[in-house]
Amino acid sequence: MAGVFDIDLETEDISDTETEEVELTSESVNRDSEKVGPDCFELLTVLGKGAYGKVFQVRKVQGAQTGKIFAMKVLKKAKIVCNAKDTAHTRAEREILETVRHPFIVDLLYAFQTGGKLYLILECLSGGELFMQLEKEGIFMEDTACFYLGEITMALGHLHSNGIIYRDLKPENIMLNHQGHIKLTDFGLCKESIHDGTVTHTFCGTIEYMAPEILTRSGHNRAVDWWSLGALMYDMMTGSPPFTAENRKKTIDKILKCKLNLPPYLTIDARDLIKKLLKKNPAQRLGCSKADCADIQKHPFFKHINWDDLLNKRVEPPYKPQLQSDEDVSLFDTRFTRQTPVDSPDDTSLSHSAELAFAGFTYVAPSVLESLKEGFSFEPRTRHVRRHNSSPLSLFENNTSVGELHV
Ligand code: ATP
Ligand code: MG
Repeated sequence: MAGVFDIDLETEDISDTETEEVELTSESVNRDSEKVGPDCFELLTVLGKGAYGKVFQVRKVQGAQTGKIFAMKVLKKAKIVCNAKDTAHTRAEREILETVRHPFIVDLLYAFQTGGKLYLILECLSGGELFMQLEKEGIFMEDTACFYLGEITMALGHLHSNGIIYRDLKPENIMLNHQGHIKLTDFGLCKESIHDGTVTHTFCGTIEYMAPEILTRSGHNRAVDWWSLGALMYDMMTGSPPFTAENRKKTIDKILKCKLNLPPYLTIDARDLIKKLLKKNPAQRLGCSKADCADIQKHPFFKHINWDDLLNKRVEPPYKPQLQSDEDVSLFDTRFTRQTPVDSPDDTSLSHSAELAFAGFTYVAPSVLESLKEGFSFEPRTRHVRRHNSSPLSLFENNTSVGELHV
C-alpha cells in the first residue's frame, strides 16, 4: 500500500509555509522502526502464572521505549490449540485489549508471536492485585470500597458499551497501578460482540462471584457483571463473598437458592445497593436496563462521587502502593517473584491449520506508533519534519508489526 503525505519541511532555507510531497515507502518509513519480538525484552522477574503460561516483568532493551518496564504475558500455542474454545479466548484477549482503551483497563502495547508462543506486552501494574490489599486489610471501609467500586463500574460500563461482557470479575483479576488506581486485567474469558438481545452459554470464571444465570446455563447478558460487582462489594465490606460453602456444588446451590444475609453494620445505602445488584432474577437487577452503568452510578451509595473527577483520576486512591522503583515487585506473591525468570525458546511449528488460528495476532499499539512517528525523520536528517496528514495509522494494514509495515 503506497501513501503520500504532505510534509512541511522546516529548515533555515525552506520557509515555514513551503510544502513538499514525500512518498512513503517501506524503506522510508521502516528505516527507524523496529521489529518487535522477544529479543527486545529482558526478563526481570516472574509476576504470576496462568493456565497457559507465565507473566513476567520485563525491560525493553531495544527500539522505542528502551529502558521502560512492562509486563509480558507468554502463552503457549500448543496448549491453546488443544481446545478450540481457548483459541477463541486468546484471540479475544488480544482483540479486546486492542479495541478497548480506558483509564481503568490494562493497556496493551505490543503483541507478537514466535513459532510456539504468543506474547502480550502490557503496562506493568506494580500495585499488584486488589486481592492482596483486601487480604491485608480484611475488609475495606465504605469510602475505600466506594472508590474501587466506582472505578470498576466505569470500566465495566465502558466494556458493555463496546459490546463486551467481562464475566470474570473477581479480586484476583482486579489490579492496581503504581498510583493505586484500578486496572482490570485478564480478558481471556471475555466474549466479544454480545450486544443486547444475544445471549451466550459458555461456562467459565470462578464460581463465588458468578451470577445464578451463568450457573444454570440459562443464557446470560451483561447483567452478569453487575451481579459480580455486587458479590465483590459484599466481599470488600464483609470479608468474604455472599455465598460460600465447603465445595463447589454447595456453593452453587447457595447462589441459586439462598437468601442474601447482610450484616447489620453496613450502612443503609450499601445494603440497598448490594441487594439490588444481587437480585437472582437478572431482569430485576440494577444495571440491567439500557442505561446500564448509569443506573448504578446514580445509586445513593455513590452520592459523594464526582464521576468526571473519578474518570480523570483526580480522586486520590485510598492506598498508594509503597514502591521503591519501577522494578519493585514487593506487592507480588513471592511464590512467583522468587523464581528464576526463564522463557524457554519455543520455535516448534504447528500444523498449517493450527497456525492459522493465530494469524493476525501481532500488534503494535497506536500510542507506540505515535511515538515512533514522532521519531521518524526523512532525509536530510537535520531537517525538522512536521506532518499535516491527520493519521498515518490509516496507512498501516491491520495485524502487522512495525517491522512488517507495508506502506
Ligand atoms: P487466563 O485466565 O487468561 O489464563 P491468567 O489468570 O492465567 O489468565 P492473568 O490473570 O492475566 O492470567 O495473569 C496472571 C497473573 O499475572 C495475575 O494474577 C497478576 O498477578 C500477574 N499479571 C497479569 N497481568 C499483569 C500486568 N499487566 N502487570 C503486572 N502483573 C500482571
Ligand atoms: Mg487471572
